[in-house]
Formats: sequence, structure tokens, C-alpha cells
Amino acid sequence: MAEQMFFNQGDLVGVLTTQPLDRLLDYKAPEGGCETGAFVEVPLGPRKVLGVVWGPGQGDYDRAKIRSVIRVLDVEPMRDEMRQFLGRVADYTLTPMSAMLRLATRAPGLGGAVSMRKIYRRGKGEPDRQTDARRKVLEVLEQYGGLAFTLKELADYAGVTSSVIKGLVKQGVVREEDAPRDLPYPYLDPKYAGKELTEDQAEGAEKLRASVASGKYGTTLLKGVTGSGKTEVYLEAVAECLAQGRQALVLLPEIALTAEFLTRLEARFGAQPAEWHSGVTMTERRRCFRMVGQGAAQVVVGARSALFLPFQNLGLIVVDEEHDTSYKQDDGVLYSARDMSVMRALCCSAQVILASATPSLESWANAEAGKYARVDLVSRYGAAQMPDMGAIDMREEKLPSNRWVSQRLQREVNKRIEAGEQSLFFINRRGYAPMTICRACGHQIACDHCDARMVEHRFQKRLMCHQCGESKPVPDACPSCEVEGKLAPVGPGVERLAEEIKELFPDARVAVLSSDLFGSARALKEQIEAIARGEADIIIGTQLVAKGHNFPHLTLVGVIDADLGLQGSDLRAAERTFQLMRQVAGRAGRAAKKGTALLQSYQPEHPVIRAILSGDEEGFWQTEAAERKAAGVPPYGRMAGIVISSPDMQAAFDLGANMARQDRVLRDIGAQVFGPAPAPIARVRGRHRVRLLVKADKAAPLQAALARWSAQFRIGHNVRLSIDIDPQSFL
Ligand code: ADP
Ligand code: ZN
Repeated sequence: MAEQMFFNQGDLVGVLTTQPLDRLLDYKAPEGGCETGAFVEVPLGPRKVLGVVWGPGQGDYDRAKIRSVIRVLDVEPMRDEMRQFLGRVADYTLTPMSAMLRLATRAPGLGGAVSMRKIYRRGKGEPDRQTDARRKVLEVLEQYGGLAFTLKELADYAGVTSSVIKGLVKQGVVREEDAPRDLPYPYLDPKYAGKELTEDQAEGAEKLRASVASGKYGTTLLKGVTGSGKTEVYLEAVAECLAQGRQALVLLPEIALTAEFLTRLEARFGAQPAEWHSGVTMTERRRCFRMVGQGAAQVVVGARSALFLPFQNLGLIVVDEEHDTSYKQDDGVLYSARDMSVMRALCCSAQVILASATPSLESWANAEAGKYARVDLVSRYGAAQMPDMGAIDMREEKLPSNRWVSQRLQREVNKRIEAGEQSLFFINRRGYAPMTICRACGHQIACDHCDARMVEHRFQKRLMCHQCGESKPVPDACPSCEVEGKLAPVGPGVERLAEEIKELFPDARVAVLSSDLFGSARALKEQIEAIARGEADIIIGTQLVAKGHNFPHLTLVGVIDADLGLQGSDLRAAERTFQLMRQVAGRAGRAAKKGTALLQSYQPEHPVIRAILSGDEEGFWQTEAAERKAAGVPPYGRMAGIVISSPDMQAAFDLGANMARQDRVLRDIGAQVFGPAPAPIARVRGRHRVRLLVKADKAAPLQAALARWSAQFRIGHNVRLSIDIDPQSFL
């Protein structure tokens, strides 16, 4: 990698910009010079664009025509290690560097003038008269020493209104000052409040601490059943990392989980860490970006793109719920945050912890092969035990049509209601009904732009396309035969199930948890907290409830359709069903009372359903691994998915056929091409989609071959080609 260089005014520098050009641009260094990694503003045509000085210029342009860098931005220069990381991700995912730079600069107004805001700290005065509210403010100011707060922070920490603080300002008790907006984050104290760990946990924590203390790269799979204390254990590794003076990053799969998590971190380290995800304001994002770069944010909790923040000294990355599919970005740069965490850690000699109750087969196999270390937590913390699992054979339950809750499940729920405990119904389908059909002509209502059925959302009184988001009112007449009043919903979604359940249990308090039923993350959070307090008897939820929420009163989980995930031909269908069912079941019995999980299934003898019920996880993975190995598919072989899309179906197919025919460079590395075939979702947003699949041996130099292969073809202006390395979904 290029060494660190300094360029004097007028020297030629090569600048990587965020513009979609596949090369560096030459500029002259500005007055005062600049160094490699400097963030700069450069002229491009009539515009000014953001760039990073990547190295010396090429010098193959007419020197007289080369323009000067406009200015060097007041941001920490990009570290060599970060440039290396971006380059490696670009090579791995076949992404242009300009797109990588965009991903790494997702903070608005980076170069902007430093804006100011009011901050508050202890002043010299004493209050004229003491009140409870005033005392609380003073306590907070004392507790945090000389720290300054924003008005909101101080009000929140003290639990008072801002007018109390304003009153104290008037008396000089609190001092109001102007300060740069981007304040450092409060200090996190690794020794603040550690929990007493169980023997099992302490042993795991010790291993993780030791690997962090080594200061070297390493990855550990932290596997433990839900409720075993994985979080408590990896927080010990975070503490060690802080004690070493290094920064830590914790990735979470779902924004809705951050609030609860931040509270836990605060309890452990005495203050809240930095946050980075789509729910964070633009100003906070910029603050985070800058402070991370200056080492003034010790811990960042975030979504996958936090991986591209400019850490000064990153020592640990935790990927929580590492099996979660949302770690794979599925548009723009197609990267897996889990896999790229490992790459990032390699670039800066950091440790990675992959935490999960149901790891991905990839991580499990890496641990088997000795590439990753492994720490297991085998029992739940405290009195909590794993739930009893059972299947309900739906072939023997004679349910009337349009009914989905078996007699057996109804009886179990009634028992819970009598005992004052909660029950959860799980169904992995949003909306009212997955299909709307005309009983006069048989027409199914489909999206105008996609090859997908419209899903009725009765709560919002609309039909929605889950592919493109298009929605329209539910029509009175069939769009095909125009007969009125014959449109009927077919199959259950979470809203329809809720209707049935309210009928079956008219006196129960029912809460429905589906991501689209809440206007805001806050409303959702409040609902989740209310449920945790016991303010519902029955919870009906989609995939959202599988992820990490703690409901202490919940003792029964009923899965409406355990077979649903097994129907597809997806490579990971078995793995995903296994993970999801185990996760959902794990919601039951997290406190002192033992839980039960019941799976409604039409094929309880299916090996995957049997593995879920028996809880023989190692057995399941062994079998699954053996099958994948025999088929030469991931993680034992490599794959790339090629999607060609175009409004013109023929153009997409022609390119696909052409690519499949001219596959020499792929055959040279022993790779095979399959397709072209219409993608399972053959049209999205009016674009026709054609897929090819490339399969290769694990050791084959796949990316290089794919790059050479795809470069051979002329791609029409209305055709798009995307290459997905290690695809997670085949739609
Ligand atoms: P996981 O991440 O494996 O699901 P958590 O770390 O969330 O498990 O732990 C489950 C619950 O048990 C949490 O409420 C947690 O605070 C509590 N817990 C786990 N270990 C301990 C411990 N050693 N001391 C006190 N509470 C603990
Ligand atoms: Zn659509």
C-alpha cells in the first residue's frame, strides 16, 4: 500500500472522488500543501466535489490544464488502514472505488464550517432556593465532574424540564456557553459497573478479554442460547478494549433494538456511546463521524454502514445476531457487514466477535475449520430454562376454512391467560392476506410494475407491493372482469390472524407487532416496553419479534405456519427456518417460569422440523454442512449471482445469453455458469430481470475472473448489470 506522503503546493496529486469515474483525477496540491488521505474539495467541470488524496498524480495530462485542489477540509485525514480496507472491499465485491468512498463519507456537511451550539456546565453561583428538580440538576453536574451537556441531555439525565435549567442559568448556578456543535462523547468507564458473571460466562469472558488484550487480529464465534448472557459476556470484551485505550464497534441488525441496548451500555459503562444508523439526525451523524476520527468516541453502536466510519484505533468489532440477513446490503454496494468486519479487523489488528444463538453455517464452518475461535454458553442465565418444544400436526386438526389457530393452541393460550402469563403467536407475513383473488374470474391482483402479488393491508386500507412499495386502494370491482364485490382475501397475514384471535379470545388484551403498523421507531419501542411490563395477554408478531426483545411474562410461543420457510428452493431455506424457529421459540420462558413453544406444521416428520424440535443443533449443522459440501455450494464452494435488468426484456435476455456463451475466462478457473433464466421475481419497478449464477471452487480466483468476464460485454444504456458475490438471496 502507498506510503504516507506530503505534497507541497503545486505537486501533482491523484484524488479519488465520490463521482462515478473509475480512475483517480490529477490535481495540483493547494497552498499549504496536503498529505495522502487528506479530505479535499476539488473542481470537476463546473462543480465542486468531495475527494480524498490517494497518492501522487499520474502526470499523463497536460500539466497546464490541471486544476488546483480548492481546499483541504478540516477533517482527520483518511488513515492508510482505511484506504486499504476500502480497496479490499472494492476488490472483493467488485465495486468501483468511488462508490466505496461514498459509503465511507455518509455524513453531510463534512467540510462545512464548524457550527456552534449552547452547552451547559456548573457555574459559580448557588440557587436562591433549593427544590427537588434543582437538586437533581446539581447532582448530575457533580456526578459527571466538569462535563458539559446540551440542554436536552442535561434535562434528560436529571429528569427535569429545560425551564428548570434555564432558571438556574439566570442565577449563575449553571453556565451557558457556545461550543462547537460536534462535542466529544461522554467518557465510558470500563470499570463502572461490571456484573458478577456465572462460571460459564466468566470463562468465556476471560477468553475474549485475552484475545482483545493480545492486540492482534482474531475472530471468535460466541454461541449461546437466547438468554445465556452473550451480551454481558461480550461487554467484558468491550471493557477490555476500552481499557487498552482502543475503540469498539457493536453492530446490531435492527434499529428498534438500539434504544434498549444503549441503556444497557450506559448501565455498564456509566454513559451512552455514539450511535450510527438511519434513525440518527444529520448533525449527530456528522458529530459521530468527526469524533470517531479523533478518537473522541470510544464505542459506536450502529447499523452495518458504521463499519466504514473512520476509527482512529479500532480494537474490537462485535456483530450481534451475526446470522441476521439484514447484514447483507442488497442494493448499491452488495457487501456483507459480517464478512467485511473480519476484513476490517484484519486491516487494523482488531478482534471480531460474532454473537448468535443460531450462527450462520458460514461462521459455524469457519469455527469447525479452526479459522475462528469458539466460545459456547450452554445454559440460560439464572432460573430461566430452555422451552419445551413440540409440533402440532395440522393434518389431524380439522380446521374450518379461513381459520388458522388449532384447538390445541387455543387450549394452551387459555391456560396462560388464566395464569396471568403471556402468549405469542408468530406468523412470518405482514399485512392482512398474501393474496387477493376474484371469485368471479379467478384473477389475482398483481403489482403493475413487478411480478408480484399485491398484499392487502387492511389496517392501512390499501393493497401493497412488497417488492417496490407501490400501493393502491382496495378496489370494489375486479380489475380484470369488472364484477363487483367478488374480491376475496386468500391466506393469512398478521392482521388477519389478529382478527381470528380477537374472536377466539374476546376478553384478552391483544397487541400486534409488525414493522409496518408503527409510524415511528418510538411508537414501536413504547409498545414493546408496554408488552414487557405485562400490558398484553396475547402478542401477535412477524419476524420483528424474533429479534432480541425480552418479554419476561411470556411463557408460550405458537408458530402458525412452521413450514412456510421450507417451501422455497433457496439454498438456505433449511438454515433460515431452523434459525428463525429457534429464535422465536427462544422468546418463551426467559424468566423464572418455564416456557413452551408449539409449531403448527403439515409435515412434522420433515428433518428440519425434527431438528428444531429436538434442539440437536450440532447434528443439524453437521447434516446441513454435509449436504452443502456434496453440492459444492457455500460455504464449501463459491457463488456469484448476476442480475441483468432492463425495461426491455429482450435486451436483458440477449446480454444474459451472450454472457453465458462467452464463458471462457470462467471455465479457465473451473467455474460454471448457469442461466440465463428469468429471476424468481421477474419484474421489479417495471424492469425485467434475468439471472445467471456462477459457481466455483472455494479456492478459485473468482472475482478476478468475473471482472475480466463482465468487462468483455457492451452494456446497453437501459440495461443494468449487477454482480453479487456470495449472494444471500436468489430473488
Ligand atoms: P443473550 O444476549 O445471550 O440473549 P443477555 O446478555 O441479554 O443474553 O442476558 C439475558 C438476561 O440475563 C439479561 O437481562 C441480562 O441482563 C441477564 N444476565 C445475564 N447474565 C447475567 C449476570 N451474570 N448477572 C446478572 N444478570 C445477567
Ligand atoms: Zn411492485
